[in-house]
Amino acid sequence: MKTSRRRNRPHSDWGGPIRRAVVTGGCGFVGSHLCDLLLDSDVEVVCVDNFLTSNGDNVAHCLSDGRFELLDHDVTEPIPVPGEVDLVLHLASPASPQDYLRLPVETLEAGSLGTFNALELARRKLARFVLASTSEVYGDPLQHPQHESYWGNVNPVGPRSVYDEAKRFAEAATIAYRTTHGVDTAIVRIFNTFGPRMRTKDGRAVPTFIRQALAGDPLTVTGDGSQTRSLCYVGDTVRGILAVAASSHPGPVNLGNPAETTVLDLAHLVRDLSRSTAPIEFVARPVDDPGRRRPDITLAWEQFGWKPETDPRKGLSTTVDWFATQLNDTAARER
Ligand code: NAD
Repeated sequence: MKTSRRRNRPHSDWGGPIRRAVVTGGCGFVGSHLCDLLLDSDVEVVCVDNFLTSNGDNVAHCLSDGRFELLDHDVTEPIPVPGEVDLVLHLASPASPQDYLRLPVETLEAGSLGTFNALELARRKLARFVLASTSEVYGDPLQHPQHESYWGNVNPVGPRSVYDEAKRFAEAATIAYRTTHGVDTAIVRIFNTFGPRMRTKDGRAVPTFIRQALAGDPLTVTGDGSQTRSLCYVGDTVRGILAVAASSHPGPVNLGNPAETTVLDLAHLVRDLSRSTAPIEFVARPVDDPGRRRPDITLAWEQFGWKPETDPRKGLSTTVDWFATQLNDTAARER
């Protein structure tokens, strides 16, 4: 039994199978899917989270698994994990615009102090370290699509800077630990990801449109809706993160879906998939909202054979179904 399970473990380029991983921010949207994928691959998981932008719901199903441990801990404090660790995946940070605009200082602290503490953990344990960075480091990009070599166009004093600059700092800290302390590090730059377990009110386009469509409320498109987004299904994103983790590549590596869609087309598609007749309403665009976003994923494809495999329509349909079930369950509980 044990032998057959072990066969599934991801084999790293840097020293045998990955046996035990720490996932900071593991109770969040992306982090919880990553915990699932690791457990499916027979990797023990220590999930570190202080529930700043989540609760335990996303990992409730993992709690009965003896290979899963949940540590209620703020990563801005040193991270106490006894025992061996092969891999540290650092995702802890507010991530949706609504969260980081509400929590500007916490966001900067998660990117700075939190990243140092996660790097220190990796250094002490001689573990591989992967930083979950973001396409936001490219800001409102002047190059299109965005290749990893592009330095970005970020307003350092705009409202979004708390997130963009925190992640840019986190990338710099990661490189400094690599060059100064010899930690085996990697950076992944995640582009917009969607799927089940997003919060209905986190302010991002997909959950907002789905919530509005299912409730029959107007779908609020910002600006004229011609700005584009590239949306990657969460199953593809976490598969990419693990592929980079199991390699010895330092990154940065873009992970995202190059299929670009306008926000207005997205609203129409969500409305169709939700079988809703709600109207579309145009509202003001947020300050510094990027006009175009599309990852160049040549590096991920050439190095890891990674590309998104989920058809966006299928991924959206799965997500709409998940939200519908959640909303029904909530309504049933409130009755
Ligand atoms: P999320 O808000 O769902 O999850 C973040 C998690 O981090 C939450 O569980 C939160 O409680 C935890 N957290 C925040 N501060 C913490 C702290 N100080 N100590 C411990 N835990 C803390 O967000 P997400 O969408 O799952 O994003 C996860 C990571 O991926 C983030 O680092 C984000 O920047 C990155 N990312 C996500 C996307 C995306 O589209 N979802 C895109 C680019 C990058």
